[in-house]
This record gives sequence, structure tokens and C-alpha cells, in this order.
Amino acid sequence: MARANKLAHATAAVRPFGPRESEAMRFEEHGDVTLLRFERLSREAGFVHAIASKPWNYAPHRGAGCERAMAARRRVCTILGVPAERMTAPAQVQAAEIIRIEPSDWGRGGDGRGSALPYVDGLICDTPDVPIVMLSADCPLICVYDPATPAIGTVHAGWQGTVAGAADNLIKQMQKMFGSDPAQLIAGISPAAGPCCYEVGREVQRIAATRLPDADEVVAARKGRLTFDLWLANRNQLVRAGLPRDHIEVAELCSICDRRFWSHRRDGAEAGRTAMFVAMRP
Ligand SMILES: [Zn+2]
Repeated sequence: MARANKLAHATAAVRPFGPRESEAMRFEEHGDVTLLRFERLSREAGFVHAIASKPWNYAPHRGAGCERAMAARRRVCTILGVPAERMTAPAQVQAAEIIRIEPSDWGRGGDGRGSALPYVDGLICDTPDVPIVMLSADCPLICVYDPATPAIGTVHAGWQGTVAGAADNLIKQMQKMFGSDPAQLIAGISPAAGPCCYEVGREVQRIAATRLPDADEVVAARKGRLTFDLWLANRNQLVRAGLPRDHIEVAELCSICDRRFWSHRRDGAEAGRTAMFVAMRP
């Protein structure tokens, strides 16, 4: 079984599907910086967000061109009109912990993983002008806006975080800390490994079955390969947490077969990181 799992990784086939258009996201060119924004979330005046990917690597700590990541991060902050010195990031450890940003956290992780908030995969915040920065090379990144409070939340949900209920915990923490009403929340799920390409081993399927009520739907054999649909699993998880289905935008762009994005599965150690920037306007 271990061998089968290894094989699934080794043969991570790059399917000739991408690039394709996204119905949920639009691309914006700012010189050589390309930003993607969710359609519905873009209409929220109090919410700032963007996904930024190639040609730049937004991880200062790893991958091709990481020495230019800080300059790239600062450029995105300038484009979005948010203070780069307050960029705050979680360490992203493939778990489901979410914490609220306190003023003493502002700027932590802005220059890389070394100073990022440890142990956590998601952050929530009700203070304007504190940009949260999340990184991905295949894992879904989720952003949530609560226009009523107002407040924001983010989480990184690879297969382990998804199975551990990271998105569900994000909504629960927003309810607990801010009194957010899930029915009013609006969410976006970033480009990430898609069901077209994201093969997993039987071990992953077995673990998913112990945690996810929709495991049979999201981890399934498709065309002879066992694949994990992380887009659907996280959308379903947000719906179960109380978000209306039509409040959730899914990019439906696959990082593995769409070379506009960084992919660890496809590129290994050389993979850079795609970033998601999220903040509130004053
Ligand atoms: Zn794909």
C-alpha cells in the first residue's frame, strides 16, 4: 500500500487541461504582476483581496527566485493599497488551528516563515489595514469576508487541513470571536490542485472516510485514478458550516495542470509559492 501511495505521487500526471478560464475569478495585469480576484468579493468595498502567482515566487524561504519574493510582496501591497510593514502570516503546518490577529502580531511572517505565527493555518482579523498573506503550491487557500461585523478570515487547507476541518474551524472561530453569522459570510477558494490531477493514495482515502461525511463524493476513483477533489470538499465544508452555496466562489483553476500557478506536485523543490493577500479597508 505504501508503494501504491508513492507511485501515485511519482506519476502525478500533468493533464493537458489548463490554462482555462475561471467563471469565479478575473485576471488583472499590473505590469509584470498578475493578480486574480473573485468576482463577487471584488464588489465588497470593505474587502481587499488578490491571488498573486507567476512569474514571481512569493515565498522568501523557498523555491525558485525566492530572493525576489519580498520585493514582489511589497509590490502587491502597493497595488492593493495596504501597508506592507503589517503583512502578517501563519506558519501553515497542515493542521486546522485558527487564531485571531492581535496588534503584537502585526508584521509577523511578513518577511518569511521564520517569523510567522507558529502552529496555525489560518488567521482572523477585525482590524483594517492588516494584510494577511497566505502561501500555496497546490493547497487551497480560502478567504472569508463578514461585511456585517466587519471581519475577515483566511485558511490554508491542503488534504490534511481539509480532513481536519480547517475551513469549518475558520467559520467557528469567526462566530466565536466576532459573532459572525455564517449566512452572511462570503468566501473564495483559490486556484489549487484540482480533481483532474490530484491523485492520492488509499491511505488518504481511508483517513478522509473517518472525518468527512462526504468522503465518498470527494475522494473517488475517476478514470481509474483515486483523486481528492479539494475544491468540492472545502465548498461542502463551508456549506455545512452555514454559508449559503451562492456565497462561495471557487476558482476551479488547477495548479497542477495550469502552469500559470506554482505546483509542488508538478515541480517539486523548485516550486515557488502562489500568495493570497487579504485585508480590510478602513
Ligand atoms: Zn489539473
